[in-house]
Amino acid sequence: MSDNDFREVDDNGDDVVDAEIVETSDGTENTDNKDSDKNDKKEDGYENICFICHRTEGQAGPMINIGSGVSICNECMQRTFDSMNNFNNTTENTGGAFDFSKMPNIGMINLADFAMPSSQKIKKKKSKKKADSKPKTDGKLDGAEDGEEGPAIDIKNMLPPHEIKARLDEYVVGQEHAKKVMSVAVYNHYKRVANDPEDDIEIEKSNMLMIGPTGSGKTYLVKTLARLLDVPLAITDATSLTEAGYIGDDIESVVSKLLAAADNDVDKAECGIIFIDEIDKLAKKRNANQRDVSGESVQQGMLKLLEGAEVEVPVGASSKNAMVPMTTIDTKNILFICGGAFPDLDNIVKERLNKSSAMGFTGELKDKYDKDRDILMKTTSEDLKKFGMIPEFIGRLPILFSTQALDEEMLVRILKEPKNAILKQYQKLLALDEVKLTFTDGALHAIARKAMKRELGARALRAIIEEFMLDIMYEIPKDDNIGAVEITEEYIEDKGGPSITMRGAAAIEDKSS
Ligand code: ADP
Repeated sequence: MSDNDFREVDDNGDDVVDAEIVETSDGTENTDNKDSDKNDKKEDGYENICFICHRTEGQAGPMINIGSGVSICNECMQRTFDSMNNFNNTTENTGGAFDFSKMPNIGMINLADFAMPSSQKIKKKKSKKKADSKPKTDGKLDGAEDGEEGPAIDIKNMLPPHEIKARLDEYVVGQEHAKKVMSVAVYNHYKRVANDPEDDIEIEKSNMLMIGPTGSGKTYLVKTLARLLDVPLAITDATSLTEAGYIGDDIESVVSKLLAAADNDVDKAECGIIFIDEIDKLAKKRNANQRDVSGESVQQGMLKLLEGAEVEVPVGASSKNAMVPMTTIDTKNILFICGGAFPDLDNIVKERLNKSSAMGFTGELKDKYDKDRDILMKTTSEDLKKFGMIPEFIGRLPILFSTQALDEEMLVRILKEPKNAILKQYQKLLALDEVKLTFTDGALHAIARKAMKRELGARALRAIIEEFMLDIMYEIPKDDNIGAVEITEEYIEDKGGPSITMRGAAAIEDKSS
């Protein structure tokens, strides 16, 4: 067969191809380029022919055997894929994107799965230019507007710790230790943010872990802090967090919440605060026979975030999908505050302290710590490890402190002292009707006692007040002659009514102040 013959057959189509294979398989000496054949022939004297272009191995190079004795040369294989792409890649339907689902014969394989979805990955940014990485210093931390330049951390204009605490004092009653620790930690954190990264001494991140009973003001402290520092705040619940790929919010969703709180301003978000509540729910189960991985793996997943990682988050949406633009946020300067009630942690601390006092010769009572109300203040990272937090996680929250359980006295103060105290709010509401509202001391204590019974901390106060204020708020506007209302202990305890004074009558004595 001549060279030309071979090419003719090539152009004639499949039928001839089959014949050609047989023909050629039968006798390779029939092929034209006998010189090269000598080199390319297989040891058994046969060489494959491309099913499509009919060239021999000697001409077309090594073949891909696709089964049933059929071989295709590399070039044809590539062309086949290319033409399939062109066939499906009609830009008017897909907007230029290749539609894998229309690829013939492989529709059942979701090729999109092979493409790494960009939404699920943490994108590592190229190192920024030196000038970019320096924090901006043209503005104030405290309430100063930072303009277009994003958050501005100017160490000279930053509130010193004692002033931060003084501002917190206006809103948060008690919790002196917690307020002090937070003020210093926040001050140091933003000093660190403002610090020249070129410096050889790098200041460690002051992420915090706050332990305290429910309703003791943990969330309130963080909210107040973020407001007075004028930084964005995202609050999330650790129980809703899951590892990426599971139902629930994946860990990085907290960062997109922060971005939303910062009005999609990346610079602002990168200096914000993330508060993760109920962190104790991520503890490994103690005394469980089977391995509990859910909480533990979320703790693991959070490590990078706490330390500082570049995270890709959707802009202007809470969920990631192909339609949402993504941006990268560096968590290096985001302050993480974790909080939790850590039930039973007090027993772990007590056990440790009792053990150590029993071992010593100090003559301390064995049950010295059993009645200590502030036992959680003595928590160490060892205790937390025993509770079920993983050491790496605790290690990334170096500032450990606790809030106190609120006693009756503190609850009374919470009712009346803060700038936006609940009593002040009701007084203002009634003042708009020109009615003076007062509470006797006895009434305040009765409310506090009721709240203590509910064991919800200060959170119970509002619910209790709302219960009995409902009637007052309903009845008072009915009668224009009412000039003052005094809430008494008897009224709170359902033993009597409030004391009402009509306009023109002698003003009642204000016993609550
Ligand atoms: P938790 O410790 O469970 O996070 P919160 O911070 O949510 O408790 O407290 C619930 C509410 O109780 C707050 O919104 C706040 O109004 C009030 N509160 C709690 N503790 C204090 C406090 N120390 N001073 C003033 N208000 C408080």
